Amino acid sequence: MCRFVRVAIPSPLARLFDYALPEDGLTPSPGARVLVPFGRQSLVAVVVELTDKTDVPADKIKAISGVLDSEALLPPDMLSLLLWAARYYVHPVGEVLNTAIPALWRRPEPVGLPATPRYRLREGADTGVISARASLQLKLAAALAEAGPDGLGNAALAELGSSWRNALNALIEQNLVDCRQELWRAPLTCPDLSPPELHDEQQTAVAAVEAARGGFAPFLLRGVTGSGKTEVYLRLIEKTVADGGQVLVMVPEISLTPQLLERFCRRLQTRLVTLHSGLRDAERATHWLAAARGEAQVVIGTRSSVFTPLPRLQLIVVDEEHDASFKQQDGFRYHARDLAMVRARNSAVPIVLGSATPSFESLFNVRQGRFTELRLTHRAGGAVAPKIGLLDVRRRGGRDGVSTLLRSEMERHLEAGGQVLVFINRRGYAPVLICDDCGETADCRRCDAHMTVHSASQRLRCHHCGAERPIPKVCESCGAESLEHVGQGSERIELALQEAFPDKRVIRIDRDTTRRKGALEAQLALATSGEADILVGTQMLAKGHHFPNVTLVGILDADRGLFGTDFRSLEQMGQLIVQVAGRAGREARQGEVLIQTRNPEHVLLKLLVSAGYDEFAEAALKEREDAELPPFSKVALVRAESAERDGGRHFLAYVADLIKPWREALQAEGHTVYVLGPVVAPMERVGGRFRYQLMFQSDEHRALNRLLASLRRLLETDKAARKIRWSLDIDPLDFF
Ligand code: ADP
Ligand code: ZN
Repeated sequence: MCRFVRVAIPSPLARLFDYALPEDGLTPSPGARVLVPFGRQSLVAVVVELTDKTDVPADKIKAISGVLDSEALLPPDMLSLLLWAARYYVHPVGEVLNTAIPALWRRPEPVGLPATPRYRLREGADTGVISARASLQLKLAAALAEAGPDGLGNAALAELGSSWRNALNALIEQNLVDCRQELWRAPLTCPDLSPPELHDEQQTAVAAVEAARGGFAPFLLRGVTGSGKTEVYLRLIEKTVADGGQVLVMVPEISLTPQLLERFCRRLQTRLVTLHSGLRDAERATHWLAAARGEAQVVIGTRSSVFTPLPRLQLIVVDEEHDASFKQQDGFRYHARDLAMVRARNSAVPIVLGSATPSFESLFNVRQGRFTELRLTHRAGGAVAPKIGLLDVRRRGGRDGVSTLLRSEMERHLEAGGQVLVFINRRGYAPVLICDDCGETADCRRCDAHMTVHSASQRLRCHHCGAERPIPKVCESCGAESLEHVGQGSERIELALQEAFPDKRVIRIDRDTTRRKGALEAQLALATSGEADILVGTQMLAKGHHFPNVTLVGILDADRGLFGTDFRSLEQMGQLIVQVAGRAGREARQGEVLIQTRNPEHVLLKLLVSAGYDEFAEAALKEREDAELPPFSKVALVRAESAERDGGRHFLAYVADLIKPWREALQAEGHTVYVLGPVVAPMERVGGRFRYQLMFQSDEHRALNRLLASLRRLLETDKAARKIRWSLDIDPLDFF
């Protein structure tokens, strides 16, 4: 008999806490939630283990005040993944576990469907397929038909016969009945039952993953946009589901558009649920539960879906694996792709990472023989790869950011009946408002950044802290009436193009035009149907969408990526260019891509354009290797921010000192960890706080991890640390 539980509590403390179990109470299992007294509060905690011993003195230990789950909410595999993640990312375990639990159940609510389920006959369901001998099924179907769209609840169904649950499940299996609460997304009634025949490379890919079923096997599926990767996923998912397995499909935040969902639903005759930030708490909890109970067969979700319990998990797919949105950028800073990999290994299932522009990490893993590479080298369905060229715009930039050269190409494509996509990775009208008299720029008062002019709303906005104010009529510094807009944002490009092509329809797709619910769908519909001739957009346009009529893509500001402050800027620029280029010519017509640049001689940019992403990545990886940067080493950052100018710098210098003995001890055992800094962040002040960082670098992950774990323990009880905002970021994606 275990007398104590060791629980994780959502608090910034990294350790677990022991509580006594009342003698007559229920014994919770690991993964179950309990209610515990904590200070003067009562908190929801998760049991991590049961134990006989505790270091807490008998007169000090408190008892749990209740057991919330009779069954574990987090199954053992999920619990161990989360504990692993807490150690790897050196993050408080209580906060890590909290991330995995739907918000609804972070409160002391019983787990269950938020509303009692009501079942209903699906629209157009053909009850004629029910076997004449299945009398209870027939009875249920008749009652449900009578009840109409409101459906019937458990109580009403139970009156029809004692084994109603089995009969109901049989009806569900036959796709005749679904659940009104949308416990899962029911297969559509008009499925697409004529999938294309797979071409050779797709067949090879499917066969390779199929052959690996039943064990851990990581794959990198590489193929340009339109080469048929999604078709490969669909085929693999179908097979896995047919064998009774569950599949986790992870996609970037932005890709979870109706287009993609519709395609999955049309093709897969499965019970599918989504998990993403757009869901209400109750929906999220319901979908999560449907997956955890094994009822949903496919989960398609963003970052945090990696923590969905799936008792019959047999395959993981991570689409657009290079996408930065898989990394959580605050709080518990995990990388969902990397955790998916760990999960696949723990569960002994294959995992397929797909991308047209794989992350350098994944390319490195292929090179090291850790991932198997699967390639799709040409476009499916006969589409030809686009032609990519550089437009030298030195001295001929054109006043509004669209060069005359690009403009005449646009004319040509529009006349031939094609659509044109113009990509600019910046929102708003103009990034700078400057006084022509005194040279002062309108800056954010809390950040080291210019305010962006937004002309539709007539406001200045800071894209870093969100501050806004009205656009001044006169210079805020000297009072002169000579304010000039410098540079271009998507809003300005849209207006300029509308002026240049008055009889064409121009639409803009960025965060500003798609804020309202349903707006993105509406804009995308205009783009796909061909109603809009010119599409102007930011990176929202770059990902996942399919615009069959786009024949020309213009990229306006590729140069920003060439001289970024971050070691990943170049990788991200290469990925973005190739992803945007992939929107061109997805049908039979050949597409063209024109990149405006003031650096036509830049070696890597030239390589990208002439030889493609592979060779670009090879060369860029070589630079990383020479600089001993990831993936050739392990890096972690300690960030600190303070309202005082030098607060962060002093604190991080103190941290570097504090950790010195630990570093020296590791060094004595032959493990080197370099500490660099403190250095000021690329943008020093954001939201009124000055930011500094300290970088840790090592060849050995274990040494780095041990050092950081010691550091966190030291800082937890440190007085200086309490006065400053600091955070740890393992495998940081960027240095901002
Ligand atoms: P990706 O995911 O690599 O961008 P998709 O799977 O979306 O590629 O395929 C691009 C287009 O080609 C889609 O319209 C898809 O239906 C079609 N397609 C995919 N595979 C085939 C195939 N083997 N034969 C014909 N068309 C295909
Ligand atoms: Zn700001």
